Amino acid sequence: MPRIRHEHTRQRQDHSGQRLRNEHTIASSCEVRGRGYWTGQEVCVQIHPAARGTGVTLVRTDLMPENSSDKSQNHPRCNASVTHRIDASLRTNLVSGSAKFQMVEHLMAAISALEIDNCIVEIDGEEMPALDGSCLAFAEALSHAGLIIQASPKKALVIRDRLRVGSPTGWIEVVPSNKGELFFEYQLGFDDDTPIKAQSFSIELTPDRFIREVASARTFVTESQACKIRASGLAGHVSNTELLVIGDSGPIDNEYRFSNECARHKTLDLIGDLALAGVEIVGRFTSYRGGHILNGAMANALFDLAQTQQTQSRTTKLQSFRRTA
Ligand SMILES: [Zn+2]
Repeated sequence: MPRIRHEHTRQRQDHSGQRLRNEHTIASSCEVRGRGYWTGQEVCVQIHPAARGTGVTLVRTDLMPENSSDKSQNHPRCNASVTHRIDASLRTNLVSGSAKFQMVEHLMAAISALEIDNCIVEIDGEEMPALDGSCLAFAEALSHAGLIIQASPKKALVIRDRLRVGSPTGWIEVVPSNKGELFFEYQLGFDDDTPIKAQSFSIELTPDRFIREVASARTFVTESQACKIRASGLAGHVSNTELLVIGDSGPIDNEYRFSNECARHKTLDLIGDLALAGVEIVGRFTSYRGGHILNGAMANALFDLAQTQQTQSRTTKLQSFRRTA
């Protein structure tokens, strides 16, 4: 568990009920190794502390430095921001120039839910390790690295009006919270004949609850989806124990960790994808059959809203300064 209990910084509120905390980074570097689902490549992910205000930076240490004769500097890199997000099937990818990163959502979920705002993530390949299909190894490594409270307030986006993306068959919405919390509910259901039963999961997110209730929920596919992916020549190296392959009688060569593990994993994906908005959010989210594409649309909307609120706040401060000057 984390060396610093997160609750100490989590519960402070200002006079408007808005949750306040300072930015955080990790106290020491940590490392996770594994193989990507799609590329099959063995990679090493090293996560290092970073200065306040710098956010999460992903670095491709296997690629030659850009515009530098110093080989230790300027490897291609990308801020973990929705502005660099590109749509991809069944995962979230980021691209900035030659710096490409595949399947960042599980790592981002762990970083975001553990309230780590600033860090440098070095990876010697394109795709994040799949591990057991969950983000538990990332969450444990980051937890053991410890937390440093930095001398800058974390930017927060307080949802004041309902915001919704999607269509009647699949949508995500966020509404204001009157308790100052970040809350998620995921409702899972499929149209077609599928062995995955309708299920839901909800959580008022804290770092401790994320580790206990979400971090170990694994990626899942149906048996027919797995057959199609393997028939197309992808993921042939991935065994049934490296994710949940769900057949008519449940997981094949595997067991559920929770009866609603699929809804929990969808919540994990949502948390990771929304982390790309780059702000601490106060609001209550509901996702009805949402996936990466809708998560990305919501992250974009939150990013835009945060820019607007910051501009309005700057304008209000300037007007008040002019009135008093
Ligand atoms: Zn996932």
